[in-house]
Amino acid sequence: MTVNLLDFNQEQLATYFQGLGEKPFRAKQLMRWMHHFGVHEFEQMTDIAKPLREKLAREACIVPPTVQIEQISTDGTRKWLIDTGIGNGVETVFIPEDGRGTLCVSSQVGCALECTFCSTGRQGFNRNLTVSEIIGQLWVANRALSSELKVRDPKGDRVISNVVMMGMGEPLANFDNVVTALQIMLDDSAYGLSRRRVTLSTSGLVPAMDRLRELCPVALAVSLHAPNDQLRDEIVPINKKYPLKELMAACQRYLEKAPRDFVTFEYVMLDGVNDTLTHAKQLLELVKSVPCKFNLIPFNPFPNSGYGTSKTDNIRRFRDVLMQAGHVVTTRKTRGEDIDAACGQLAGKVQDKTKRALHKIHSHEAPLHNLHTKVTT
Ligand code: SAH
Ligand code: SF4
Repeated sequence: MTVNLLDFNQEQLATYFQGLGEKPFRAKQLMRWMHHFGVHEFEQMTDIAKPLREKLAREACIVPPTVQIEQISTDGTRKWLIDTGIGNGVETVFIPEDGRGTLCVSSQVGCALECTFCSTGRQGFNRNLTVSEIIGQLWVANRALSSELKVRDPKGDRVISNVVMMGMGEPLANFDNVVTALQIMLDDSAYGLSRRRVTLSTSGLVPAMDRLRELCPVALAVSLHAPNDQLRDEIVPINKKYPLKELMAACQRYLEKAPRDFVTFEYVMLDGVNDTLTHAKQLLELVKSVPCKFNLIPFNPFPNSGYGTSKTDNIRRFRDVLMQAGHVVTTRKTRGEDIDAACGQLAGKVQDKTKRALHKIHSHEAPLHNLHTKVTT
């Protein structure tokens, strides 16, 4: 069977070349061509001898995922719907901000963890993405944006400066493929991102957090969303398996190895559910032994969710309690009506969305509004 070389990190590629009777250093060359230059035709790889290029063309392939739709907003935010060969696609979102560009990457089609406020969770689990489908999102976005590189970054800075594993799916539930993709993101021959610029968001799979710390300690974000077990059991059901005490201990262990000296706690603001001052105070107590900052995410509604977004005043009051205790707090703000590309809403109803998106492109309606704007408070 033909292997897709986008599925390999450099070490695996070196092993592959050894198997072909070739020198392992070829792996580095290939990584550069595929990821750094975004080349997928062997014949364009001019510093590789022709016979080897021909051999590779026979034995292997470089197949990035297929983009079904690309949408571009007036403010530069872009969204790609990636074909997964089954009904539901996955989405990748590029968010340009002052001085940086963040790519939000998906790890699974659907998610098995059933957080009650998440439309991906509502959709259920379909399958894990392969390595090439995960790293392929960066490949696709990088290629699409690279023409802009010349215009916007004459110094040669990267358009995609940060990656967040915050799209569809629970990345630690697709551990091996996600770690391999992360390794490619960090590889100097590929994307060369520093570990601080790659963030993995998890709902709290404790054993996998420990393994990640050993294998690839990127920046860690933890979806907390509730300050006590009773409430978290209800809205983030994985809490029944890994309750808060264990989760906090895992965060502490992570920081012993992590290059970054804090965990980002994400907290979705659900009206009347987890957003009172009592909750804020409980939260302070809960995290007191973990160096951390907070990211408050106003709930992004979707049909029949059963939840409402916290009132602005309540979010402000909640934030103030955390800030007065000395924490750094960011509030993620979603603007515009196209909120179904925001956190927790990716690919909820792909087929419908596909139709709508096509309609938009063909009818030249106003493109997407700003999907995520981080407001540092
Ligand atoms: N599965 C991982 C990463 C993907 S979700 C995780 O849960 O951490 C990225 C973030 O969006 C998580 O913090 C998630 O809890 C949050 N989220 C999910 N649904 C949301 C919604 N409807 N509104 C706002 N945030 C949501
Ligand atoms: Fe899965 Fe994360 Fe959604 Fe929970 S919030 S259902 S873990 S994608």
